[in-house]
Amino acid sequence: MDLTDRGVGKTLLIIGIHIEELRFGERVAEGAKELGIDVLRIEHGLSNDRFLYSNLFYHDTFLRELYLQTHMQIRGKYSIAIDLHTGFNQAGCCADVFCKETCVLDCLHCVLQNRLIGGSLLLKKVRLLKIVKNVAVRPKLADVSYLRCKTFIPETVWKGRHYHYVGLEIYLPRPGQESREDWLFARQLVKCIHECGKKLKRNKSNEIRGNCQGKPV
Ligand SMILES: [Zn+2]
Repeated sequence: MDLTDRGVGKTLLIIGIHIEELRFGERVAEGAKELGIDVLRIEHGLSNDRFLYSNLFYHDTFLRELYLQTHMQIRGKYSIAIDLHTGFNQAGCCADVFCKETCVLDCLHCVLQNRLIGGSLLLKKVRLLKIVKNVAVRPKLADVSYLRCKTFIPETVWKGRHYHYVGLEIYLPRPGQESREDWLFARQLVKCIHECGKKLKRNKSNEIRGNCQGKPV
């Protein structure tokens, strides 16, 4: 199945997979509608606190179920799904983007290198990571510039047969200490990913060609 079969060129922002991150997600999601981005708010997400689960099996099963349910809800309706999370980094205001698709990473690289935030390139604040099943397998030439990683989410979700799965982890300076700057940073990244979704859809439809210049170096 190719990209033309994936949804109708729409973007979905998923917030609250981890319940502690829902509040941050809600702030980031403000204004998403005006950009044409739908929001899926997970009311009862998974807790980051693994001690709340009697054993890791329940934690992992819940996580898997949550993602698979979400997948069933969104497949066929969207071409790109952004799964928002937060992490911590003392410096703050930086992010990781995870995706299996090189075309999405390439497009995002192009978009980010043309945007400024606080006087520096947005690309300098973002790491682009390619999701792979096995990190030991030698990468294809087109992928050598990307860091590679494994993910804890089900393969059906990240494999991208029905939509492009994009994990977005925004690093905050301290737990629960997010500021307006962090929301704005996250919103800007969501917007860039959304733009890539639209670009890729258009490129695939042959309406625009060669719109994304500049490959990662
Ligand atoms: Zn999370």
